[in-house]
Amino acid sequence: MTVITRMTPLLERNETFAGSYTPAPLGLPARQVLILTCLDHRVDPAIVLGLQLADAPVIRNAGGRVTQAVIDDIAYLAFLAGYVFGGEQGLDSLFEVAIVHHTQCGTGLLADPGYRHQAAEATGLAEATLEASAVADPYVTVKADVDRLLTSPSLSPKVSVSGHVYDIATGRVTTTVDARYP
Ligand SMILES: [Zn+2]
Repeated sequence: MTVITRMTPLLERNETFAGSYTPAPLGLPARQVLILTCLDHRVDPAIVLGLQLADAPVIRNAGGRVTQAVIDDIAYLAFLAGYVFGGEQGLDSLFEVAIVHHTQCGTGLLADPGYRHQAAEATGLAEATLEASAVADPYVTVKADVDRLLTSPSLSPKVSVSGHVYDIATGRVTTTVDARYP
């Protein structure tokens, strides 16, 4: 007997998907853009930006923040892209990292010290860690994160970085920091 879980309807959708699926070969992402954005379910970049399979790698965390883990992933992906494809194509640029923060972000609550204290007690996370992940004003945090990534010593000189804000109320993404190299 099949157990019905919350995944059941999604697995049914996957059956439909797999029915007409064509696998993409390993290659550079078609758009040569890596999206870093919030894990919020209202901010799915595949839908908001119309991404197709094999278009772009996506990294998501609370707020879409540049953390050490994100910096490490991007450093590895740049190495991988250069290792696999750089030699044959002599690429001067590998990809652009587009950081997308958004309005009404749930992490904005972490800007409040009382809430942050409660969250730290409940999760065991450091208050400073929680404070660092807060997106109270996406226009401010996205600029700070573009700067943080661009000044990271691990960032490949062949990777550019840009900043954008997604407005939950309008569905519109606005570029607030133009792409530039380290
Ligand atoms: Zn968010």
